[in-house]
Amino acid sequence: MVLLFGVYLSGTQEAAAQNKKESWFRDLFRVKAPELEYIAPDTLKSSYSIDSLQYFGGGGEEEIEAELLINDLEFDSKEMKKELSIVSEDTTSFEADLESLVEVAEELLISKDWVTIHEYYNIWDSKNINPYEVDPLKFTDSVSLQLFDTLSAPWSPPLDETKVTSHFGSRHYRWHYGTDIKLNTGDSVRTVFDGIVRIKKYDPSGYGYYVLVRHKNGLETLYGHLSKQMVEVGDEVKAGEVIGLGGSTGRSSGPHLHFEFRYQGNPVNPEDIYDFDSNELLSDTLVVTAETFSYIKEVRKVHYYKVRRGDTLSGISKRHGVPISKICSLNGIRKNSTLRVGQRLRVH
Ligand SMILES: [Zn+2]
Repeated sequence: MVLLFGVYLSGTQEAAAQNKKESWFRDLFRVKAPELEYIAPDTLKSSYSIDSLQYFGGGGEEEIEAELLINDLEFDSKEMKKELSIVSEDTTSFEADLESLVEVAEELLISKDWVTIHEYYNIWDSKNINPYEVDPLKFTDSVSLQLFDTLSAPWSPPLDETKVTSHFGSRHYRWHYGTDIKLNTGDSVRTVFDGIVRIKKYDPSGYGYYVLVRHKNGLETLYGHLSKQMVEVGDEVKAGEVIGLGGSTGRSSGPHLHFEFRYQGNPVNPEDIYDFDSNELLSDTLVVTAETFSYIKEVRKVHYYKVRRGDTLSGISKRHGVPISKICSLNGIRKNSTLRVGQRLRVH
């Protein structure tokens, strides 16, 4: 909060009156874009409300001035190149009590474009890869997304070379939601389109160190198993900018990039978008239809396994990538139940 006001209030009162608010904000934007400020969490107000900023005001000249500026920010939004928006890390609704005040994560102040450009982007969550809860099987539209435009939408290869080592699709009873690309640890990994970093996280049993970037075309891309992340949540990145270094962290058997494209939180086969042989986009546009997500039917198919001699629950659990507790609940058995040879166990 101090930071936020610090930026707004760096001039004298007179200057503020004369300067008109535009210049204030031009100053603000001259700083590395997008301006990212941490403010104390406000659990009382919804996203991008002016009140949520005022809530922290304890009175006094500085704060009143800050309030004015924030109001001006709203009123003058049309003239401004960029409008700032407060995005909450917590997307659930919460009670306005002291406990939740402590629990709620920090909020970010980012360009409003990033939350208004696509309807589903009004959810900002820096912890969950898919917070949108859109059932891909209910997708009946045909949406054309622009992947490349000479003037306004650049793209970049994620790596200098893109040799595929594992495809999107079924993998030993588990679905592989991305394309794996060979690399050497330390290789530069680049964001494919312009974007803003939504997630920078460590997932020891899965993606390892990974980064998820939100793009203006409606897609999000994920880069997994990095040895180093080189961006922060809220950073605006340009196509081709290095966001991390390749590695083999998380569930990985050797250095590679696990690369995903997602639309409305649901994975899209990268090979519908990218030609890894030539290391180029397949087309300037991507048409998303029900067919794009038809693989989900395969993912959701119920799978049974026929118990063989010597099988144990933990062995079956490992082989199918399903926790023992899940197998137990799917089949109404206990962890110490005796398995019979020939018994059919539901594993998915
Ligand atoms: Zn992978």
